[in-house]
Amino acid sequence: MKYNYHTHTYRCNHAGGSDLEYARAAYDNGFVEIGFSDHVPQIGFKGIFDSWFRMAPEETAAYFDSINKLKEEFDGKMNILSGFEVEYYPKHFQALCEHIAPFAPDYLILGQHFSNNEYDGEYLGDSGCHEEALWQYAQQIEDALKTGLFTYLAHPDLPNFRGSEETLQKVHLRLCETAKAAGVPIECNLLGIKGNRWYPKKSFFEIAAKVGCPVVLGLDAHSPDAFNHEKEEKIALDLLRECGIIPIDKPIIRRPF
Ligand SMILES: [Zn+2]
Ligand SMILES: [Zn+2]
Repeated sequence: MKYNYHTHTYRCNHAGGSDLEYARAAYDNGFVEIGFSDHVPQIGFKGIFDSWFRMAPEETAAYFDSINKLKEEFDGKMNILSGFEVEYYPKHFQALCEHIAPFAPDYLILGQHFSNNEYDGEYLGDSGCHEEALWQYAQQIEDALKTGLFTYLAHPDLPNFRGSEETLQKVHLRLCETAKAAGVPIECNLLGIKGNRWYPKKSFFEIAAKVGCPVVLGLDAHSPDAFNHEKEEKIALDLLRECGIIPIDKPIIRRPF
């Protein structure tokens, strides 16, 4: 693994280390290209809801300044891209795009964690999430990918739904077909492995294999040591191999704006 487009920063309030430490760790571990994709700031949330796990809108300029500085610092050694992990919230997506477009991010990944608009939806990682939220999640991913703005779909198997397995498989199939139709690779998330989480799910990637979805590995780095990734990479590759999948090295980077 020499490419990673899923890297957070301390600005999201749940990741550690400086931006330079992430870049150094990536370089020291042999990466040739990385992208920063911190949790996107939400526009229009002020006064409604405190979405604590993301940078504030006022931090956006400093985020890009820092990445642009690192781009220069690592020039000729490692390629660095700027991006965001974006949620598709129907009520706020337009305003969000208007906020981030002037900064000209190199790419966006879609990382949906909530149904609806977050404050009026359900967290899909909650084992108590309802079937309605699960289908809504699939719908929002479909709507998001139709915009053509996204380079890949992060942790599509995030839902921790504990209801009918048959229902979950139907949703997985819909997600895979949606991503395939949009020409967007899906991610096998190595943070899930590092953190002993409920994903990546083998049952999901068995369906992805049948549908023929390209798969990309993503560190979802929340600390610089995530780039010391051999153990998690091996587990991910073994899981994918058992499903008949060989991941692609890197996604085609789509410039969103
Ligand atoms: Zn995060
Ligand atoms: Zn992430």
